[in-house]
Amino acid sequence: MAIVATGISDSEDDLLHRVRPPDWRNPQPRNPYDLIIIGAGPAGLTAAELAARRGLRVALIERDRIGGNSLNSGSIPSKAIIRAARVLVSLRDEEDFGATAFDRPRTDFGAVMARMRRIRSRVAEYHSVDRLCARGIDVFLSDARFEGPHVLTAGDSRLTFKKAIIATGARPEPPNVPGLEQIGYLTSDSIFQLNALPKRLGVIGGGPLGCELAQAFCRLGSQVTIVQNDPKFLPHEDRDAAELLSLSMSRDGVITRLNTTVVGARRDDGGKWLETVSDGVKLDVAVDDVLLSIGRVPNVEGLGLEAADVQFDANLGIHVDEFLQTTNVDVYAAGDVCQPDQFTNVAQSCARLAVRNAFGAREHRQGRLTIPWCTYCDPEIAHIGLHVREARRQSIPVKSFTVMMQDVDRAITDGLDDGFVKIHVREGTDQILGATIVATRAGELINEMSVIMSAGIGMRRLAEILHTYPAQSDAIRMAAVAYLDDEPVLLDDQPALLVDPVPRD
Ligand SMILES: Cc1cc2nc3c(=O)[nH]c(=O)nc-3n(C[C@H](O)[C@H](O)[C@H](O)COP(=O)(O)OP(=O)(O)OC[C@H]3O[C@@H](n4cnc5c(N)ncnc54)[C@H](O)[C@@H]3O)c2cc1C
Repeated sequence: MAIVATGISDSEDDLLHRVRPPDWRNPQPRNPYDLIIIGAGPAGLTAAELAARRGLRVALIERDRIGGNSLNSGSIPSKAIIRAARVLVSLRDEEDFGATAFDRPRTDFGAVMARMRRIRSRVAEYHSVDRLCARGIDVFLSDARFEGPHVLTAGDSRLTFKKAIIATGARPEPPNVPGLEQIGYLTSDSIFQLNALPKRLGVIGGGPLGCELAQAFCRLGSQVTIVQNDPKFLPHEDRDAAELLSLSMSRDGVITRLNTTVVGARRDDGGKWLETVSDGVKLDVAVDDVLLSIGRVPNVEGLGLEAADVQFDANLGIHVDEFLQTTNVDVYAAGDVCQPDQFTNVAQSCARLAVRNAFGAREHRQGRLTIPWCTYCDPEIAHIGLHVREARRQSIPVKSFTVMMQDVDRAITDGLDDGFVKIHVREGTDQILGATIVATRAGELINEMSVIMSAGIGMRRLAEILHTYPAQSDAIRMAAVAYLDDEPVLLDDQPALLVDPVPRD
């Protein structure tokens, strides 16, 4: 499919022109700034744009590329590659849908990566240096470092501020595995620069990033072995969701080694090897490239945080309270540098809260956020709110209502019936506490749950809300109907359910 925006190519220069123009000169500082933001990833950009919209004098400092991890080496490039892998797999399956026999298309890896680069450049346009400047934001492309509680440097410039937000993100931290440095490895920072498809790719770590890229590279044609030291993938997700993913990855041909630890790496005449142990049994895995998808650490070093009286921890990041304020009352933090939930939506949302708290009444608490997230494998695995185990830990009685996608008409007609919708309810009420969705488009379906939960809609009302038919999202309504079927007592109130839920004047 064509990229519609004009003038966008797949060259690195095109991206750099938007995110780090080579001939860039930092502006003359307009001290004091109302707000200085360090780091121009999703958190920093969101904060800068919101503050500028409010008419504040804003400086944004970025040491590398505007867009941060998400644009340059995270969400955007990974989803572009996942999309290409999905399309290629579906083309290979077309006989199932009535196509006559045809030669299976092979992967042109160069074309896949070129498409990814075009997409990255296109997305970069929305937050390009030019656009930031047009919004009145002073952009400094330099390393930032605090020199005092209200002063910092950006390259050779000395900037003073009333408020600051630290949004410096996180980076991959290689594990201490003997021999790994010698054989070399890829991380999320380097895998999107590959020019050739690895023949045999070893992926260390079965969290979201590892699973997404393991499946995508396998579908593109690599022989992928994924090694995870836990008994299941996605340790934060429910077992049934993680097991469906395991099955799907195995079906694709990913070699999965669960409960397995990488203890060493070596190179010999036979090539590169990962040395693994599972239940005391040693096994060597032959690889051409290794992707590390474990361990990320916050970017806190070199920032002069001590000079600004900002307390931090090298592993957990900057200490913030529930208002995102640091130990310096005029300095806030947002995004991966201070959050355990490392997602773009969380970074953006916290940045908005930080700006509001810094320039208004300190009343916006991050604990109130209900966070939806998704692992974009096939099927996708999405979650929002409480897991059952968390509810139990908090002694909240919980009951779950599950609809299998194989019972949803649209999932059947689409031939995409892997997965389920599971909604957790506070027992004895119809209050929704959380949901897990495993489906081809779970990342979209979970947003309906996000709206439902934010609006305080309960299962009884949800059961009555019309969905298009047939639709995969109807599985959400069907789970609510399952709730009604389970609650004979509430059925006595049946007439109330017939009331049109849309308020009318
Ligand atoms: C492969 C991959 C896939 C991902 N996929 C998803 C996804 O699908 N969905 C999702 O929600 N999240 C995803 N994430 C996570 C998401 O990318 C991060 O949560 C998000 O980028 C965090 O935003 P941030 O602004 O806090 O930090 P970052 O995006 O890391 O930006 C921080 C910026 O600060 C700059 N900086 C650091 N130190 C300094 C300094 N001293 N001076 C000046 N600048 C500095 C950095 O150069 C960087 O540009 C993915 C991550 C990876 C690695």
